[in-house]
Amino acid sequence: MNESPPEKITIGVSACLLGREVRFDGGHKRSRFITDTLAGHFELLAFCPEVAIGMGTPRQPIRLTGDAQSPEAVGVKTPELNVTQPLRAYGEKIAGDIHGLCGFIFKKDSPSCGVARVKVYNAAGMPERVGTGLFASEIMNAHPLLPVEEEGRLNDADLRENFITRVYVYARWKELIDSGISKSGLIKFHTRHKYLVMSHSNERYRELGQMLSDLTRASLADIADCYITTLMQTLSVPAMRKRHTNVLQHLLGYLKNNLDSASRADLNETIDEYRRGDFPLVVPIRLLQHHFSRHPHPYIKEQVYLSPHPQALQLRNNL
Ligand code: SF4
Repeated sequence: MNESPPEKITIGVSACLLGREVRFDGGHKRSRFITDTLAGHFELLAFCPEVAIGMGTPRQPIRLTGDAQSPEAVGVKTPELNVTQPLRAYGEKIAGDIHGLCGFIFKKDSPSCGVARVKVYNAAGMPERVGTGLFASEIMNAHPLLPVEEEGRLNDADLRENFITRVYVYARWKELIDSGISKSGLIKFHTRHKYLVMSHSNERYRELGQMLSDLTRASLADIADCYITTLMQTLSVPAMRKRHTNVLQHLLGYLKNNLDSASRADLNETIDEYRRGDFPLVVPIRLLQHHFSRHPHPYIKEQVYLSPHPQALQLRNNL
């Protein structure tokens, strides 16, 4: 298959999360998950927009003011300091340079890097609305499909697993596009992601299949654009236990002729215990992997669902 992700996928990261002392007060906001866990699996590219535009460290803190849709970044103590234009220009420049990135982790609450819920102050100096940091906003507008997340949200097991899953899907997609998209490549990509998509939504899986049912109705590039937009939107909401259970039962069906009745009953019971919340997802998954390693099935072997990301990340241990 062509669409295996590259060895080390590159993710952009707000530099302070990597332990760089670039914050306004000269400190950092190191995230252990990023530096101790993700760094072993991904190439991490650091960006500090405020340092990059020459604000220096330490520096006057800034905040967002005015309209939530197009806020200005001004000094907290020195409102005459307005860095809106340089921050936006830097974001625009970087957005044009990061086509190799497959994800971005931003620092929450920052007037430059925050993805959502960043305080926007009114003329009286009161936080009245919420918006998006100016750098993050430029990156996200230019790359609407790029998986992005804030480091604070990565403390949530569901959001963390969901983000990394999307990063790998996006990496496989970029590899497919970079190798020259073909009808057969697109169909294979869809086939491989069947159970992953079904763990989010059966309806969306059918909708995506429908999009590929007639590849002559429009240009392949247009169909591919439409396909990946819908796929990434579908995956952006974490999969629910009920949907995972449904997929696990489908997978069990591929083993029914290979397992004796005791092993089948054991697997069924394990899936049911997962459904009831007694076990995390990793338990039935490991059991299925074990059975499929003894009874390989060519269709299941190609399915992303059983290993959407490296096992060593242990992302399904708390789902
Ligand atoms: S939040 Fe963004 S701008 Fe602020 S210190 Fe971190 S990387 Fe720099």
